[in-house]
Amino acid sequence: MTPGTARVLGGPPAAAALLTEAGRRAGRLPRPPHLALVRVGEDPASVSYVRGKAQKAAEVGLSSHVHALPEATTQAELLALVETLNADPAVNGILVQLPLPAHLNPEPVLLALDPAKDVDGLHPANTGALWNNHAGLRPCTPAGIMALLAHHGVTVAGQRTVVVGRSALVGRPVAGLLLNADATVTVAHRATPDLGAVTREADLLIVAAGQVHLITPDMVRPGAVVVDVGIHRVPTESGKGRLTGDVHPDVAQVAAALTPVPGGVGPMTVAQLLMNTVIAAERQHARAPHPEVSGEHVR
Ligand code: ADP
Repeated sequence: MTPGTARVLGGPPAAAALLTEAGRRAGRLPRPPHLALVRVGEDPASVSYVRGKAQKAAEVGLSSHVHALPEATTQAELLALVETLNADPAVNGILVQLPLPAHLNPEPVLLALDPAKDVDGLHPANTGALWNNHAGLRPCTPAGIMALLAHHGVTVAGQRTVVVGRSALVGRPVAGLLLNADATVTVAHRATPDLGAVTREADLLIVAAGQVHLITPDMVRPGAVVVDVGIHRVPTESGKGRLTGDVHPDVAQVAAALTPVPGGVGPMTVAQLLMNTVIAAERQHARAPHPEVSGEHVR
């Protein structure tokens, strides 16, 4: 295999820039933005993700609290916690870590969130706002992808873009963001015949299909920019396994630029979550009555 020639669109420098910006804006608020992290049970991946989010929050000067509920938590108890956090003016953002244990239904939980505190951007009020290009909180991975592209100077406006995948978490919202950024957008999915014929049309190809190496070099237009949102652990001879994406590494020989896995889109998601928490806090402070300009102090 010859070494790839595509420019590497690295996540860490773009995530660092986003975190710096989040920290700077957090510092201008009357108090540090507060993120409530809710998890239920002891799913090891969820425990580790939530811990990582709390650590990064602290690094950029945000406050956070992990509400770790026992596995046996009922739907009513979880909803009650969400209501308490909604009503608490000290809480600016709420994240309920998914997946929930099988006996809990995530949908009513999502619907119960105050959209103004929905820092994952998954409440229908926020997905609707995204689709109509109105103000709202944007889902973290898609917004992180847009920040990654902007950081590396990739043009989106006017580009022919193809999104592979139509999930609520990535495919659909990233298609909306691309549309709002003046791209021409095609969404391909499981039922798309001759996927390669579609992906070869793309100047900018975003792949979020959850399939190891779905995209091979013959499916990519020479000179295209490729964003790989997939992350899979594949076995190795050492038995440790290694991480790879939805895009075959040989695509680097065809594409002009490619996000690596790991170290591409991954780091952007948490950075965007913290940026969303800052944005939520800014909007809440702007709406709240300001003691210094209210009552007898107003002239
Ligand atoms: P994610 O959360 O990363 O977006 P999901 O597993 O929820 O991933 O969604 C997978 C998406 O990828 C679905 O929309 C599905 O239609 C699409 N997809 C899966 N396999 C293929 C395939 N072979 N060709 C095209 N699209 C695919």
